[in-house]
Amino acid sequence: MKGIWKPSALVSALSITTTYRPPGVERPYDDVIHERDGLLRYKWNGTERNESTNRSLRSAMHASVPLIWFFGVGKGIFRPEFPVFVVGEEEDRQQFILDPSRSVNSPQSKEGVEELPRRYRMIETRQRLFQGVFRGIVMRAYGDHCAVCGLQQSRLLDAAHILPDSDKDGIASVTNGIALCKLHHSAFDVGILGIRPDLVVQVQPRIMHERGGPMLRYGFQEVHGKKISVPSATAERPRPDFLERSFLRFTELGEVA
Ligand SMILES: [Zn+2]
Repeated sequence: MKGIWKPSALVSALSITTTYRPPGVERPYDDVIHERDGLLRYKWNGTERNESTNRSLRSAMHASVPLIWFFGVGKGIFRPEFPVFVVGEEEDRQQFILDPSRSVNSPQSKEGVEELPRRYRMIETRQRLFQGVFRGIVMRAYGDHCAVCGLQQSRLLDAAHILPDSDKDGIASVTNGIALCKLHHSAFDVGILGIRPDLVVQVQPRIMHERGGPMLRYGFQEVHGKKISVPSATAERPRPDFLERSFLRFTELGEVA
């Protein structure tokens, strides 16, 4: 279901909406980033070119009106992104081209979408738009808890990638994410803490044998061997093959330490 909102007094649309679909029901959000130009695609409402909301988006394109994009991060939960500009249309594919990397004040050049190198634009789009959406989805799915220790301080929580952004499979999908507190996120990234495909936490042996204060004991030694908490919806749990690859790296890091 598409949501394009245009108040009746205006010619151009003000906002667009993408509702959340759990993994498996729809492709991950990453897929709306176009391979060729790093810009986003947004489907027409229906198949009629001159349907009224499609016309209002076209009007926003001609007038360079910034739009708000409401991204669903859960059932009935949305994260707003602003500004997003309609910079083109692909009529044969019945979709608009959207650019979230332009600022409101930067005039659109004559070259339009060719202005930025593709690679740069893809990185920019991923960071600017999808990291926020990714975080929103992961936090909602994990109920704002660290999956390892249960800490519930949202400012101290991150949406960690199981496979990093730089990996070809490092998609910004909830199945490649885990909510972790800052401490456990860093420990996961540097390979001090690993998560097995069966969701059991493993801590490097050298840390298990260390002596130290409460952070070492409660934060690491006592979480070793425990299962992480995962979302109740099966489709939103970490993908075992992603965990397997990530855990392989953890074991390799242990060998070289
Ligand atoms: Zn934690």
